[in-house]
Amino acid sequence: MTGLKITEYPAVVLAEVGAPVEQFDAELAKLCEDMFETMYAAEGVGLAAPQVGLGLRLFVMDCDGIKLVAANPEIVAEEGEQVGEEGCLSVGKIGAPLKRPMRVTLRAQDMQGNWYERTAEGLAARCFHHETDHCDGTLFIDRLTPLKRDMVKKKFQKQKKWG
Ligand SMILES: [Zn+2]
Repeated sequence: MTGLKITEYPAVVLAEVGAPVEQFDAELAKLCEDMFETMYAAEGVGLAAPQVGLGLRLFVMDCDGIKLVAANPEIVAEEGEQVGEEGCLSVGKIGAPLKRPMRVTLRAQDMQGNWYERTAEGLAARCFHHETDHCDGTLFIDRLTPLKRDMVKKKFQKQKKWG
């Protein structure tokens, strides 16, 4: 396995809509393995392809007992709401409270290309939403109020300078 470099805000690839995953081959399996390793090393619970510099609709996650690979993910149902502290490996894990649906159904393909649906609640639902957003070029800071977004950006700049 190979650790990958995490792409950080404001890299352009993080703001782009990813291309669909079309090849379900050994190369994809290796990429997913490397993404899991990178995510675990960074102590994250989810990691999307744009976060390792690849404009692809793909993420891996291991959050709240749900471990999966999601290629070409879509959110097909959502209900309720939750407000919780959220952060992102591409924004220095700086947290800010953000509203997300409480319960989310994800539709995606596994590494073999088989479609599946998975419903999750709470933290895992937040993760489904956050990672699918990455595949659409949306960061969690894009969903914050301008004031909160500036606060996160400032903290991140400081962290990069002194960290
Ligand atoms: Zn993220």
